[in-house]
Amino acid sequence: MTRPFNFSAGPATLPEEVLQQAAGEMLDWHGSGMGVMEMSHRSNEFVSIYENAEADFRELMAVPPHFKILFMQGGGLAENAIVPLNISRGASADFIVTGSWSDKSQKEARKYCDVQIAATNANSDYTSLPPPASWKLRRDASYVHVCSNETIHGVEFQELPDLKGLGSDAPLVIDFSSHVASRPVDWSRVGLAFGGAQKNLGPAGVTLVVVGEDLLGHALPACPSAFDYKIVADNHSMYNTPPTYSLYVAGLTFQWLKRQKEGTATGVGAMEKRNLAKAQLLYDAIDHSQFYVNRVSKDCRSRMNVPFFLRDESRNEAFLAGAKARDLLQLKGHKSVGGMRASIYNAMPLAGVKALVDYLRDFEQKQA
Ligand SMILES: *Cc1c(COP(=O)(O)O)cnc(C)c1O
Repeated sequence: MTRPFNFSAGPATLPEEVLQQAAGEMLDWHGSGMGVMEMSHRSNEFVSIYENAEADFRELMAVPPHFKILFMQGGGLAENAIVPLNISRGASADFIVTGSWSDKSQKEARKYCDVQIAATNANSDYTSLPPPASWKLRRDASYVHVCSNETIHGVEFQELPDLKGLGSDAPLVIDFSSHVASRPVDWSRVGLAFGGAQKNLGPAGVTLVVVGEDLLGHALPACPSAFDYKIVADNHSMYNTPPTYSLYVAGLTFQWLKRQKEGTATGVGAMEKRNLAKAQLLYDAIDHSQFYVNRVSKDCRSRMNVPFFLRDESRNEAFLAGAKARDLLQLKGHKSVGGMRASIYNAMPLAGVKALVDYLRDFEQKQA
């Protein structure tokens, strides 16, 4: 049986091999007589699952030793509060607002610290990124927040900003929920990174936080203990029960990522090559057509989330129905943007993007 191609923005498609493995291990994990959902998080079995997941992610993403890797709950939206609770010290934070997600982040942080929008491209409907040289960063900001891939608007930083080069000593916080593990990260520019798993890593329920050790231990008194990064780190993400099954499936995805190869590249390097090829194929098809349009500036188009419009929007329903009939699922755009959106995460094979591009062409020809 071949499964349909699923372009959901999240929760999103997972590698079929990962789903098969999880299914095979559902009733009895490695001869333990238990499924992973049924194990104590303190058991040797689960502790090995957790330790392997952490080590595999560190290796995959080349996370330096002075960063802690935490598995938390609450998703990206909870981190919008957890980050200022932990690292703002109640002082100030600067936000780069480049789409819906960073806008949500700055609104939430206002509950905990003095927030300034240091740059935004809201007046271009979030179809471009404000150049870092134009950012109005404050000297005393406790951190600078960037959403490195805006899932809804389809804009992605192709390079992380070098805050030191901009005269700022503040740590950079990135929300990398929707492109984590799709490309390497330059950790020398990052203080803290967070992301929910349900776009590119696994099921909903587990949130990955990569935090520099220097940022631990400064939580505001009101910070809930379960959300205090130092307490979570000191307890190896087991201060309270972690989302065990989601963490396990994310761990299987890390192993799958490690096995990927493209030419001489492996792991995340292989994913980056494949993701570039997939994105180019889809953007070229849209750009070369008179029928479809993507309005994002070419220099910041997301490799993961491709919003596009039919120039004649009265055909939207027919387009989606025809896509579904060809086993191309969940292409409807986010309600705030409209149109269509194809999310082409790590687990979307090139064959899925080819099938979508073929459908774009066939649908256009049928309308002409
Ligand atoms: C999906 C998403 C979120 C929100 O994640 P939740 O798990 O729903 O809290 C935050 N930021 C980005 C960039 C996202 O794509």
